Amino acid sequence: MASSNAAAVEDLHDQIRRCRRCQLSRSRTKAVPGEGSLEASVMFVGEAPGGDEDRQGRPFIGPAGRLLTNLLRTIGIDRKDVFITNIVKCRPPDNRDPLPEEIEACNEYLLTQIALITPKVICTLGRFAGQTLVDPKLAISRDHGKATRLSGILYVPLYHPAAALHQARLIDTLESDMRRLKTILHQELADSAGSRGAGGRGSRDG
Ligand code: URA
Repeated sequence: MASSNAAAVEDLHDQIRRCRRCQLSRSRTKAVPGEGSLEASVMFVGEAPGGDEDRQGRPFIGPAGRLLTNLLRTIGIDRKDVFITNIVKCRPPDNRDPLPEEIEACNEYLLTQIALITPKVICTLGRFAGQTLVDPKLAISRDHGKATRLSGILYVPLYHPAAALHQARLIDTLESDMRRLKTILHQELADSAGSRGAGGRGSRDG
């Protein structure tokens, strides 16, 4: 990652920390811009920070985050090698669902993160992230694990790890979707290495 991109991401994250675009800025403790590798091939996008995240300003560090970290480990991925963020960067009071106007107010931040980090694969976690980035009609029970290419990026909707904390049977589903993600990622990286070799535009292996 060029240092100018690192500076641009840091600049954006500073803007997010100071943001007053919606009412969530009044109740938050800390905004949670996101964290991880700026060279990541894969980005995970959740819904909104919870209580632990709001206190520390870091994404997915509570129980759902620990499950996500463990699921990544099962497919040989270290959390620090991916980029993790949310569609909404501030905690909704009492962890209520984010409102359409809050998702809309935050959307430019997410799109800019995607443009700066240029992941090959984006995993949306849960219904709200899937409906925001992939398809407003997405049904997570039907569409989880199915890859869709949009503007050159492969999107893979997954159940939110918090759902699996409440419904144990979803752990198996998440584990099996993770194994599928591993195959998808290998294929994407092999294809992009091939297109570079063939003189294609190619991109980073992250
Ligand atoms: N749930 C989310 O969607 N995001 C977090 O950062 C934590 C919990």
